[in-house]
Amino acid sequence: MGRRPHVLIIPFPAQGHVTPLMKFAYQISDHGIKVTFVNSDFIHEKLVAALPDEDEARSRIGLASIPDGLGPGEDRKDLVKSTDSILRVMPGHLKELIEKVNNSNDDEKITCVIADTTVGWALEVAEKMGIQSVAFCPCGPGTLALVFDIPRLIEAGHVNGIDGSLLNEELICLAKDIPAFSSNRLPWSCPSDLTVQEILFRLALQCIPAKNLSNWLLCNSVYELDSSACDLIPNILPIGPLLASNHMGHYTGNFWPEDSTCISWLDNQPAGSVIYVAFGSLAILSQNQFNELALGIELVSRPFLWVVRSDFTNGSAAEYPDGFIERVAEHGKIVSWAPQEKLLAHPSVACFLSHCGWNSTMEGIGMGVPFLCWPYFADQFHNQSYICDKWKVGLGLNPDENGFISRHEIKKKIEMLVSDDGIKANAEKLKEMARKSISEGGSSYRNFKTFIEAMKH
Ligand code: UDP
Repeated sequence: MGRRPHVLIIPFPAQGHVTPLMKFAYQISDHGIKVTFVNSDFIHEKLVAALPDEDEARSRIGLASIPDGLGPGEDRKDLVKSTDSILRVMPGHLKELIEKVNNSNDDEKITCVIADTTVGWALEVAEKMGIQSVAFCPCGPGTLALVFDIPRLIEAGHVNGIDGSLLNEELICLAKDIPAFSSNRLPWSCPSDLTVQEILFRLALQCIPAKNLSNWLLCNSVYELDSSACDLIPNILPIGPLLASNHMGHYTGNFWPEDSTCISWLDNQPAGSVIYVAFGSLAILSQNQFNELALGIELVSRPFLWVVRSDFTNGSAAEYPDGFIERVAEHGKIVSWAPQEKLLAHPSVACFLSHCGWNSTMEGIGMGVPFLCWPYFADQFHNQSYICDKWKVGLGLNPDENGFISRHEIKKKIEMLVSDDGIKANAEKLKEMARKSISEGGSSYRNFKTFIEAMKH
């Protein structure tokens, strides 16, 4: 009897990278493939602390961890320090872990390493060890196409190779159907912090080896949603949208425990009434902007469900405007982490005020929910262009000349969005397209099947 395939999966240590790879891990484990999911020790501890009671993850997926080189109390939000440390120590630890697994049981040797494109170093480790490697792109194909084009853009004098800034005002157009990239809409853009921008550019450079090193290049998207970008990347295999509801089990690798009371609260709201507000795992607002958002949501007089992480306002606990909590108690629910995918699938939800992270974008598309876009950094600006200009399933918020979004703008755009039948119809159409792609015979379904067959032989 042949050995059972054993896949090692390694994400970049951030929620938006762990989530899609965890969903993918479940999907492949449904097909009898053994999976070991490797996080940094720091992230591993968070996952384990937030594991739901049924402990489904531990029974289906092997959770392993390696050090990231930083001490327990060191600030992992310092991206310069953590990126340097990861690059310095994690490749060596990964190699040791693979050797340990391979020496412990001859029948369970690692047959394949699936690494996030932002951890290109893991693909190099796999290659040096003679193990098949697969790159997984957690962002959209348009973003990846631009990242793969960086060497040419540097060569042509468009992009500064040190910090990623644009050297002229020309828009970067990759193809007719891909929204153009302007200097503040690059996948590494961070208008509020240029040091972070430089680090994001370095991380983007880390993705480039995936183009040639890996045997496969998977991405969480749908071919029909973005065929022009997919056609620019010859070996890309879109297998999305990755949805927890599409595999057996619901665990998505949360860093924080989900507030399970959201669903019963939604059950008590009228159909198509609720504004869902969530900014993913990293976006941060100033206290002023936070207050304005609160007052904007309040002005709308609709039920709302708002995710306010404990580090949402400049890294510390948010303070609400005076009397806000009392005034909205009847129609507002605030939680620190929600079961987002289930929530987006709920019939009470009318729209999604989102930072446009790629996972949130795919989840909103997969559930047919219109977006109100408030991007914060990185690929989120370009994702907004897809949502508003290409797919026409959402509206953007316009900041004033200081980058501030007023309560009146928030109110106006929410009201415009919920009464826009054209956007609703487009969102429904894309949902159908996305659902079709992951159903038997659809493009993502076929790509996934081809991949699984290859893993088994
Ligand atoms: N998410 C969640 N509960 C929340 C907020 C976010 O489960 O309350 C999940 C969301 O479903 C998505 C991920 O966290 O899968 C965030 O990824 P995304 O790419 O949207 O944003 P990032 O956190 O990377 O900025």
